[in-house]
Amino acid sequence: MHVYNQVVFLVVGFLLINITASMSPYERMIKRESTQGLYGPNDKVIIVTAANIEKVVFNNPKATFLEFYNAYCGTCQRFSSVWKEVGTSIAPWNSIVEIAAIDCASDENNAVCREHEIMRYPTMRYMPPNYQKGKKQIGTNLDHLNLPTFDDLLDEITIRLVNETEGGPSWPNFDNFDGNNWKDVFNEASLDTKFVYIVNDNLLGYLPQQVVLDHINVERVDVRIVDGEFRLIPDKSFKLGVVDPKGDFKTIPVEIELREEFSEAISNHLKQHHLLVATTESPPKENDVLENGTDSAADLLNRFFYDKARSMKPMPLFRADLEQAIRNTLNHEVIQRETISGESLSALRNFVSVLARYYTYGNKNSYKKLLDYLMEPSVIEVNGSDLQTFLKNLDPPIVHESQYIGCFSTQAGKRRFPCSLWSLFHHLTVQHLESEDNEDPMEVLYAMHGYISHFFGCSDCAKHFKEMAKRNNIWNVTSKDQAVLWLWSAHNEVNQRLAGDLTEDKNHPKIQFPNDDFCHACRKSNGDWDKQEVLEFMRRHYGNSHINDMGLDQPRALKLNARARQIFAGGANNTHLHIGILAYVVIIICLMVVAVKFYFRRGYRKKLYHHDLLGKV
Ligand SMILES: Cc1cc2nc3c(=O)[nH]c(=O)nc-3n(C[C@H](O)[C@H](O)[C@H](O)COP(=O)(O)OP(=O)(O)OC[C@H]3O[C@@H](n4cnc5c(N)ncnc54)[C@H](O)[C@@H]3O)c2cc1C
Repeated sequence: MHVYNQVVFLVVGFLLINITASMSPYERMIKRESTQGLYGPNDKVIIVTAANIEKVVFNNPKATFLEFYNAYCGTCQRFSSVWKEVGTSIAPWNSIVEIAAIDCASDENNAVCREHEIMRYPTMRYMPPNYQKGKKQIGTNLDHLNLPTFDDLLDEITIRLVNETEGGPSWPNFDNFDGNNWKDVFNEASLDTKFVYIVNDNLLGYLPQQVVLDHINVERVDVRIVDGEFRLIPDKSFKLGVVDPKGDFKTIPVEIELREEFSEAISNHLKQHHLLVATTESPPKENDVLENGTDSAADLLNRFFYDKARSMKPMPLFRADLEQAIRNTLNHEVIQRETISGESLSALRNFVSVLARYYTYGNKNSYKKLLDYLMEPSVIEVNGSDLQTFLKNLDPPIVHESQYIGCFSTQAGKRRFPCSLWSLFHHLTVQHLESEDNEDPMEVLYAMHGYISHFFGCSDCAKHFKEMAKRNNIWNVTSKDQAVLWLWSAHNEVNQRLAGDLTEDKNHPKIQFPNDDFCHACRKSNGDWDKQEVLEFMRRHYGNSHINDMGLDQPRALKLNARARQIFAGGANNTHLHIGILAYVVIIICLMVVAVKFYFRRGYRKKLYHHDLLGKV
């Protein structure tokens, strides 16, 4: 290789290694942003991901109740407290059952959510013990529960466990004891059993079975259920009793029919007999929370953009948010569908063609390729995983992966995608208004309605949106101005409904938009909206001319101020430092070798021969 080429090769290699090493905190930040779920390491809910599902759910001798949720969906956020409460409440049952959750808003779980054909969030599935991975093995749907309460769930879980036939020999015995004498009850218990507690089957609901489950991990104790009319019981109104190894039965008073009361009564009885309530509860599985709050460089960088965005008054529209919306719609929500056909295929085609026409920053060639792929007349069905591969191979991609800026939130599950989606559709209605195209004033609203109805991961939001669209006569919009204002007004209606809701980020309260900070002239002196001013404001705020590019590129390429550079440089972790040092050492050695070679070659050339002086003969 020519010496010059070698030098170029080394310098490029040097730069590449350094860029790769320094990109990582940024990439990790993006990854973390998309993986902040609703459950943390302190919850008694196992966090399932594509990486651990094989271990946690498949071939597990325990039963699993798995919630498929979407971190940004308000209903899921509200429901998460119920799921956590269930996890805590049935922790004593954890040798036979687990409460788990998987976040379908996280890119890494796309394939799992698609394979399990999740159409709405939250979706709960029951996976029996020893559940095997395989085609159409997607667990049993618990859709009939439809946003269950804590009590509904506890009953459902109990019923499933009681009726489970795959549990094997260690499964608790829920059958009524029907022996001839009390001593027989020990024949069906483990050898070291000291006391067998007897619960009356006539108790409320599934309480007897739950008392059994509450004590499956208590050492030297067994709990059995008997029929209220059981012949060996003198007092048919008893709630709880105990049989000792001699076969003597005694009732234990319990005031209220509550699980806690039974646990306390049994625990007190054990204490009286100097037995500690030792449990053999399986240790909780370690939750696989990705980089949960540990990545200081990423946190600081996020914070930097976020603070900078918030310091802009009024906050502009960020292109990075729009690109995140596009990336999430296509590369996440759409490809999570197992198959796309009929109305949903038409909705997808409309959505992509509206993007191609009015989102002017996307890559035109890639849009064209995608549209050709979707519009092919012979195509009547698109497979989600095929589309995923197609999008992955699109070079360049329609939009590049970026991060949320104006839609960022410091709280998990808040803002981000739904915020960016609203912004995208407002932007598209305004771009449509600014365009020469006068054919169909409903074009963008129609595409939005289709997208939300068929693909938006927040099923309840989609339901509310469709109801609102009907109520507010979306199909009566007759001009592009009206389309912009229809969406503005609809969004305000949603803001009003959600103001003060649990899903609200307190740093970004749901206001009637635009408030005074954004547009003073938008309100008349009597407080009513001045629609003409609102329209002008929307054109300014959501138009291309005021769009802000912050955060779109690698931080290195941004004109960051000294503070940001300091943050970023200070954030590299040890691995990156080591890669950097190694790269420097290797490159310096190589450069020295090249320099020596270069020097000797020059020396060799300097030597003069006769023919150099006389010319070749
Ligand atoms: C179509 C749709 C329907 C939804 N329905 C529900 C639902 O039923 N229940 C639920 O819990 N969540 C729903 N959501 C989510 C919810 O509306 C918010 O998007 C989410 O809570 C995040 O709120 P945010 O504070 O980031 O602001 P968002 O409401 O997402 O707004 C994003 C940005 O748009 C701007 N903006 C605000 N209001 C307007 C306006 N009127 N016109 C123009 N720009 C505006 C502001 O700059 C704001 O920061 C829905 C989302 C979408 C896209």
